[in-house]
Amino acid sequence: MPEIIEKKTYAGILEKCYKFTAAEEAKAANLYPYFRMISSPQDTEVVIGNKKMLMLGSNSYMGLTNDPRVKKAAMEATEKYGSGCAGSRFLNGTLDIHIKLEERLAAFVDKEAALVFTTGFQTNLGTISALVGKDDYVVIDKSDHASIIDGCRLGFGKIVKFNHNDPESLEQRLASCPDGEKLIVIDGVYSMEGDIAKLPQIVDAAQKQGAAVMVDDAHSIGVLGKRGNGTADHFDLTDKVDLIMGTFSKSFASIGGFIASTNEVIEYLKHFARALIFSASPTPACAAAALTAIDIIEKEPERREKLWSNTYKMLNGLKDMGFNTGLSETPIIPVIIGDNMGVFKFWRYLHDEGIFVNPVVSPAVPPNMAIIRISVMATHTESQLDHALEIIHKGGRMLGFI
Ligand code: PMP
Repeated sequence: MPEIIEKKTYAGILEKCYKFTAAEEAKAANLYPYFRMISSPQDTEVVIGNKKMLMLGSNSYMGLTNDPRVKKAAMEATEKYGSGCAGSRFLNGTLDIHIKLEERLAAFVDKEAALVFTTGFQTNLGTISALVGKDDYVVIDKSDHASIIDGCRLGFGKIVKFNHNDPESLEQRLASCPDGEKLIVIDGVYSMEGDIAKLPQIVDAAQKQGAAVMVDDAHSIGVLGKRGNGTADHFDLTDKVDLIMGTFSKSFASIGGFIASTNEVIEYLKHFARALIFSASPTPACAAAALTAIDIIEKEPERREKLWSNTYKMLNGLKDMGFNTGLSETPIIPVIIGDNMGVFKFWRYLHDEGIFVNPVVSPAVPPNMAIIRISVMATHTESQLDHALEIIHKGGRMLGFI
């Protein structure tokens, strides 16, 4: 019988897709760590297949995604308003709870006004591209989040990068672009390194050069600040930060994003941020969940205290074992392994032992800086963390990382 070979035809633009085999190869080698299918709520324990896993890879820092109060608010909002808004904030998609949420967010971060987008990613795309015009500069940290970089790419201004969390490098870069208006955009807490932005020095440099400052507080909301209200409050610099951005997808246990600033800046963004105007608004359930999460974060400061004691337990535990945790000083803890394959092997070991962590490899991190990214939640128990540390220690020894 002649062998039948199925021949696929495709346009040249798609050739790269047919040639992309890295993911298939990793799956075949049982080393593919992405798109793992979870069949339970996002909590300190999740279910994958039929197996319970200890979750150390979630951004739900406050542990509120499965909180009965947050879930009830989402369900009640669905009952009252339906499942979606069928349009953008700009036209038919603004509900009274969106406005209530914006007022609540502005008060939470101590700014005059706030604007709610459908995701944090869109918030950065819409805000940066609306503000940075053709003759302007956007000055960003080399480790800024992908959504900031893409926001810069969508704008027509010039993009200038400074060395990670290095105010001297920022000053030099600012001095190299004297002939235009400037917006500095930084993360409050860096999503891979887990360090906190050196905001006092950054604000100083900005003021000397007449630059505006925008802080992405995706990983700082709930975590830093006297009321969990972010990096600017943590440093008592809220009046020196022009724009505060946040997402609902982490401590706020929902999905959505916001930008907070003066009334005038928000009014401008309402009319120029394309990612807001041309995209449907957050669902009623999302808005209600975020509103309830803010209330809980403010009323229950013990969550933040527990988050920090869990953070120190994990961070010190890993350091004591001899792991390199880089610059981390927050619930985001990178365990620096170095090469991609080493990380995949460690990930596999931890996964098989029931520990969920995220491998982050080059090019998402610089070459030879591949990490196992651990993130800690307020709701982890001491015994969960002890168990994780024990397994991590065993795996690290077995694979020769410590
Ligand atoms: N900024 C930072 C620093 C982030 O880490 C993320 C998400 N990982 C975003 C923005 C985008 O937020 P969202 O998930 O709401 O799109």
